[in-house]
Amino acid sequence: MILDLFKLDGKVAIVTGSNTGLGQGVCKAFAEAGAFVAGVSRRPSTETAEMLGDKFYNIIADLSSCDVIPRIIDETLAKFGRIDILVNNAGIIKRQDSIEFSEENWDSVLSVNLKTVFFLTQAVARQFIKQGGGGKIINIASMLSYQGGIRVPSYTASKSAIKGITMTLANEWAKYNINVNGIAPGYMATNNTQALRQDEERSADILARIPAGRWGTPADLEGAAVFLASAASDYVNGFTLAVDGGWLGR
Ligand code: NAP
Repeated sequence: MILDLFKLDGKVAIVTGSNTGLGQGVCKAFAEAGAFVAGVSRRPSTETAEMLGDKFYNIIADLSSCDVIPRIIDETLAKFGRIDILVNNAGIIKRQDSIEFSEENWDSVLSVNLKTVFFLTQAVARQFIKQGGGGKIINIASMLSYQGGIRVPSYTASKSAIKGITMTLANEWAKYNINVNGIAPGYMATNNTQALRQDEERSADILARIPAGRWGTPADLEGAAVFLASAASDYVNGFTLAVDGGWLGR
């Protein structure tokens, strides 16, 4: 049955940024589809744990350094015994005019959004190869994987690079039955866009350009995440899927 292809029964997923926003929505969707979820967050994922019960295990880690990666793998294996899915969702954004943009705002964003993503992905892919059954990697990209944005040069650099390495890794690892794909959310109502939504002029401009006529929500991402984590997407490699209410098509 076609709907069986979307089931994640017994699969084990690592989702970064599990305490809030889009990451919390992905954790919920995966658990509802049957998976166990190791959620990585720097603050406790208390609300997510309450929602998901035994399906969820919280790993506290600050992804601004790669030092935490071996522990993330070890704790997931100790708790659930294997890894089948990785969602690189945790990310930060720093807004400042490019003419004044600081090195700190450059390095902090590139560390969390790109460097740790690459090396965590590498560590998980090594585990997939060791297990022998393939696996699914989903990188959370952005509209700024396709567009330039304004006052967010390090974020745009990181998200454009995420789309690029999604293709690189897909090219190298498809032969191991590892699917590497991305999701590019449009403008979603989360902490990430709080400052933008409070700027009345920018907020009105953005809303006027979204064909769907509304900001997205974490729930809007869930279907794409389950699809790319499941057997339904086994022949989808290296593609970054926009979930944007039509923003890019405009
Ligand atoms: P959010 O609510 O700000 O969530 C970001 C998540 O990343 C939080 O769980 C945050 O933890 C975590 N995080 C940040 N730095 C971390 C670190 N050093 N170590 C561990 N965790 C860290 O924003 P969101 O909208 O859900 O964003 C999720 C992803 O979607 C990000 O990659 C973002 O760039 C991307 N995205 C969002 C939008 C949008 O419109 N919202 C659009 C395109 C792409 P804390 O809560 O502890 O900070």
